[in-house]
Amino acid sequence: MPLSLYVDGPRWRGRAETLIAQASPTILVPVAKGNGYGFGIATLARETSRLGLTTIAVGEYEEIKAVSKVDSFDVLVLSPWRPWVDVTGDERIVHTVSRLDDLQKLSAGDRRPRVVLELLTSMRRHGLTTHELSEARRYLRDVRLEGFALHLPLAGDHRAEAANLARQGLELAAAAGVGHPPLWLSHLSAAEAGPLAADLGVDVRLRVGTNLWLGDRALLQPKATVLDVHDVSRGDPYGYRQRHASKSGFIVVVAGGTAHGIALEAPTPAATMRQRATSLGKGGLEAFGKALSPFRIAGKQRWFAEPPHMQCSMIWLPSDVTPPEVGAEIDVDVRFTTTQFDSVIFND
Ligand SMILES: *Cc1c(COP(=O)(O)O)cnc(C)c1O
Repeated sequence: MPLSLYVDGPRWRGRAETLIAQASPTILVPVAKGNGYGFGIATLARETSRLGLTTIAVGEYEEIKAVSKVDSFDVLVLSPWRPWVDVTGDERIVHTVSRLDDLQKLSAGDRRPRVVLELLTSMRRHGLTTHELSEARRYLRDVRLEGFALHLPLAGDHRAEAANLARQGLELAAAAGVGHPPLWLSHLSAAEAGPLAADLGVDVRLRVGTNLWLGDRALLQPKATVLDVHDVSRGDPYGYRQRHASKSGFIVVVAGGTAHGIALEAPTPAATMRQRATSLGKGGLEAFGKALSPFRIAGKQRWFAEPPHMQCSMIWLPSDVTPPEVGAEIDVDVRFTTTQFDSVIFND
């Protein structure tokens, strides 16, 4: 109960089913990585299985464990393979390969690993350049080529870029005689991917995280449990820093601290730029005298009494507001991709 995420399960799953149906014939590949978008990777794996999907994407090799406990998915690893990754020979793993050297190493031996070749987009994160792609040809028969991956930027229209790169990949696959493998795309909508798939005559797999899991925030309610409430009179000291209350009110201690990813989210609008620069120079976020917390009590975002502690936060409540009871749950605004909830509760 301490810091909980309440999920309207039926509507949340209904929305995912609609997205999957609307994307058809493009296949959605759910992404479960990092903190599992607030749900945890294992929960997302369970839900992916429930949605009837058989391929899931994880961010890193270390995350495979969390999904394979749930189901025997095909697991695409989004972080490109590097020589220090121990290839287990696991048949379910689809490796992303973004450098020629790595392709050469993976193609050595007779394992013929499953690989998706990532092509460098204008993101310029990972990927083979056009020149490297042409060099890749000689290794393609010694791996199982499962497709080409494009990770597109979020800003701008990248359909032409995607089509151009995809065409190069497909021409290469044809020249190497390794078939007509699918395209794995990120950050393109199903509506954009559909025409692309039709134009190129290729199957498309859309890797999607945020929109699938967090697309309708109204179905997600983060709540923090009230752990303690203290009356404070003007002049009373409180907290690690032993500040003195400038007026009477309450200190409300709520679940949710730095360990959960709760940070000083909304600093005071600085009185002057100079003051702000000075305090920042002195000690980063903690130097802000007062910070608006992400916790809401009686419909209003409240001030931190002091910076969040590891597992809880101390919130200041003025004396004219009735404080919540210990055990009550209050609303909290979080960034889902950086929050570690203590529990995720589906209503069904
Ligand atoms: C994280 C990630 C995704 C999913 O991104 P969202 O914005 O959460 O949908 C897709 N592709 C790659 C390569 C990623 O790293």
